[in-house]
Amino acid sequence: MPLPAHVPVLIAGGGPVGLMLAALLAEYGIATLTLEADDDYCSGSRAICISRRSQEIMGWVGADRPLTATGLAWTGGRSYYRNSEVLHFEMPHDPLQRYAPMVNIQQYAVEEYAHQAMQRHPELAALRWSARLAALRTDTDGVTAEVEAEGGRHTVRADWLIACDGGRSTVREAMGLRLEGMQYEGRYVIVDIEQASSRPVERLAWFDPPSNPGSTLLMHRQPGNVWRVDYQIRDDEDPEEAVKPENVLPRVQSHLDMIGETAPWKPLWISIYNAKCLTLGSYRHGRVLFAGDAAHLVPIFGVRGLNSGLDDAGNLAWKLAWVLQGQAPASLLDSYSVERVHATRQNLAYGAKSTEFMAPPDFGFRLMREAALRLALSDERVRQLINPRQSAPISYDASPLNLDDGAPQAGAAAAPGQPAPEALLLD
Ligand SMILES: Cc1cc2nc3c(=O)[nH]c(=O)nc-3n(C[C@H](O)[C@H](O)[C@H](O)COP(=O)(O)OP(=O)(O)OC[C@H]3O[C@@H](n4cnc5c(N)ncnc54)[C@H](O)[C@@H]3O)c2cc1C
Repeated sequence: MPLPAHVPVLIAGGGPVGLMLAALLAEYGIATLTLEADDDYCSGSRAICISRRSQEIMGWVGADRPLTATGLAWTGGRSYYRNSEVLHFEMPHDPLQRYAPMVNIQQYAVEEYAHQAMQRHPELAALRWSARLAALRTDTDGVTAEVEAEGGRHTVRADWLIACDGGRSTVREAMGLRLEGMQYEGRYVIVDIEQASSRPVERLAWFDPPSNPGSTLLMHRQPGNVWRVDYQIRDDEDPEEAVKPENVLPRVQSHLDMIGETAPWKPLWISIYNAKCLTLGSYRHGRVLFAGDAAHLVPIFGVRGLNSGLDDAGNLAWKLAWVLQGQAPASLLDSYSVERVHATRQNLAYGAKSTEFMAPPDFGFRLMREAALRLALSDERVRQLINPRQSAPISYDASPLNLDDGAPQAGAAAAPGQPAPEALLLD
């Protein structure tokens, strides 16, 4: 089928954020065309921890049901220093709440469920695989996009463009926009392995474990008998050597031996990661809006990447729908940028703290971490210092939509930006 010559909303990138935006906009009655450069959902080691807030947002389009049916719900975790447990934490959780604080599931499944949600409105939400946005021109009324698809180059005119094309965003590049911030040197090897296990689903962290002295190692269970294993490599290790199976498999085996996981296993994916704290200064540039990794790159520690991208989608979709349906002026979209840039800056502050603990960037941070871990062995009060701060909704204190300074109103159920508290209907 030929590409349409004109669409109200063009979404560049059919990753989890682009697909969720298309599903949400369709739910509000808005037609979109999503271009995805690849021919399928993502592969490799990507997001696995999906927050309660993300589950709620997916619930707005019915994508929560397959997610919670397949995903592994969890409420807490344990940290170990050498051989000893130094922290057992629980995230805020009430058994009456609809969603668990966190669900583990592979990112490709989130993409599949968002795509299924789009298909509830086939007349509104179109997705084109193997279609790459290659170039664009912006003007005051919209965007003219050059798209490579089906062996040719096509022109698509859009009233609005949403850039969801990930960390290496073509749209960002084409518009000459730069991410601001910094990146950390410390590197983690990320390994997904297949191994049956009957362990409870928890976030597990080991600092300086006997299996891998000097390293930090994280483990998460995923559906389908898959473990995510992340471990820190030494600063002097060559990253290319570090991901070679002959260097990775013995380290993983040593750790599985240490924790008594003896079932046969095989590696699925091996990659390397270093944390970045980067954001655009504004997520609205005229008729072009940025969301997800195209707008910001947040460290994986604390799981704020995809979760904050889904929050972007939840914030942007209703505002763009209102503007397109003539219920609000285009300036409503400025509040999307103000609110979500604010959220990113908070996420980056938390993410930086987590990264400095998980991969201390210098001697001072290493010393402080060592002190906290040693003290946590015997002093319960210190244990909160090593509690991983997992992703949580951010209040929009300075939103232009707030009536006053954003201070909670007397009697208000929730601060701006916070989900309304859940209440159980008895009848
Ligand atoms: C090891 C690892 C673990 C992680 N764990 C977590 C976690 O547990 N929880 C969490 O919240 N986050 C996590 N993240 C972060 C998460 O993976 C990202 O934040 C998420 O993928 C962002 O989604 P996105 O849709 O914005 O971008 P992407 O997933 O990068 O999707 C962008 C899409 O755009 C397509 N594209 C690119 N250029 C073009 C173009 N020019 N035209 C058309 N299509 C294009 C790409 O093919 C891609 O499909 C993790 C990341 C890594 C690397």
